[in-house]
Amino acid sequence: LRFLLVLLLAGAARADNDPPNYSIQIGIATKAASLVLKPAGKFRLIDPVEGLKGTLAANKSYRLEPLERGLRLGSMIVSPDTRLEQEGTGGSIMVGDRTYGGKLILRLDEGRTVTIIEEVGIEEYLRGVLPYEMDPDWPLEALKAQAVVARTFAYAHLGKFRKAGFDLTSDTRSQVYRGIGRDAESVRRAVAETRGEVLGYKGELLTVYYHACCGGRTLGTEEVWGSPSPPPLRGVKDSLCSMSPHHEWLAYFPAAEFLAAVQNDHIYGGKIESFKIHKRDTAGYAKEFKLVVGGTTLIIPAAELRKRLGNTELRSARIKSVKKHGGGVELIGRGSGHGVGLCQWGARLLAQRHTRYEKILKHYFPGSTLSLVDK
Ligand SMILES: [Zn+2]
Repeated sequence: LRFLLVLLLAGAARADNDPPNYSIQIGIATKAASLVLKPAGKFRLIDPVEGLKGTLAANKSYRLEPLERGLRLGSMIVSPDTRLEQEGTGGSIMVGDRTYGGKLILRLDEGRTVTIIEEVGIEEYLRGVLPYEMDPDWPLEALKAQAVVARTFAYAHLGKFRKAGFDLTSDTRSQVYRGIGRDAESVRRAVAETRGEVLGYKGELLTVYYHACCGGRTLGTEEVWGSPSPPPLRGVKDSLCSMSPHHEWLAYFPAAEFLAAVQNDHIYGGKIESFKIHKRDTAGYAKEFKLVVGGTTLIIPAAELRKRLGNTELRSARIKSVKKHGGGVELIGRGSGHGVGLCQWGARLLAQRHTRYEKILKHYFPGSTLSLVDK
């Protein structure tokens, strides 16, 4: 999918340019054995074969189950791809413990499971992304920067999961999206006040990224994933997030746990004889580690080590020092997340210093342009 971009010139273009709110499809529950739906407000049931089939009553629970060729919803049998659309506006429907405001499509998967797709305007979608990607209590300008980045991300990745039958997933493979259950005034404002705005580069949508805390410098896509970086994604110095609780961290792994993770399918056995940083990058972070265990030497790239030890235990791949300690290994690192694109803690601090979101975005994506998606 390609979108045309309109350059946004300092405030002027906004009023007479009402940006489109593209309808997108999100896989909100995939391959489930069964699901419980509970509407708040009346919902019409539109069967692709039989047409309008009935109405779901408000505040009643309906179990959705797969059948051989169709679906059971409460006491009704419906065709696959039946749609649920609310009568009027302002209603919502619960799927499990989450609340959604869009239209639902009930799908029967091969292998007899059910998938629910929500069809929702991208602006409403963002209201269900922001609270899970940034704390709604953070300053408005940081939330607005996050809204632009999340919107850009969504547009740039639309259709990525077409094979699975929708545009985006509702988990970290796309962006975390949990519907409208956690509605916050700050989030509504951040989305509304940046309506339609995305980041572009040379007239194209920029493929953007964001993370919790960079630890001193954001990284280029090339450094992290080996993919070429356009100028806005080559990394910038960022001293701002040094006040973040993620700025520096320490992780400890007992020997057994560490060895099980790093040795993968080969167990060499024995003790950790040594564990050191083998190569450093220009910023002084570990590029490769050298582990000697049971007489065998392993060279492990930093990104690989993070993958093996887990993203939550090892908050970033930016490791400053390591040592053997108390029978296991201790690692000291900086930042949280992959380090590419918007540093959320840095954005928070900039916003606290009254920096507007346009400037925050310029800082993290130099050379990018704030644009509107065209109709
Ligand atoms: Zn930072």
